[in-house]
Amino acid sequence: MNSLDIPATVSDEVVALANRLAEDNPDADPWEIADGLLSGAVHWWLYANTPCDDPSCEDCAAIRNAELRMKTLHELVTELATTSEYYHSPNDDDVAHD
Ligand SMILES: [Zn+2]
Repeated sequence: MNSLDIPATVSDEVVALANRLAEDNPDADPWEIADGLLSGAVHWWLYANTPCDDPSCEDCAAIRNAELRMKTLHELVTELATTSEYYHSPNDDDVAHD
């Protein structure tokens, strides 16, 4: 278990959860499932990124207050989105069509 890639493992579990919820609820709107997953993910990320009680802690400098946490979260979301295989869609309105 020492070589367990926690971020990849959690990501795989979340995708599996979303797929199971979609399969178990074929009438559910996928956007609602996605919004629920994102809500839980953001909630847990904010919980996990609470700064410690040392005001001069360098590890917590980027998450020292809500504004800094939002900046860090936005940067992370941008990185995760732009490196996703689903970032671009063939149906995007800026894709050239024949
Ligand atoms: Zn700290």
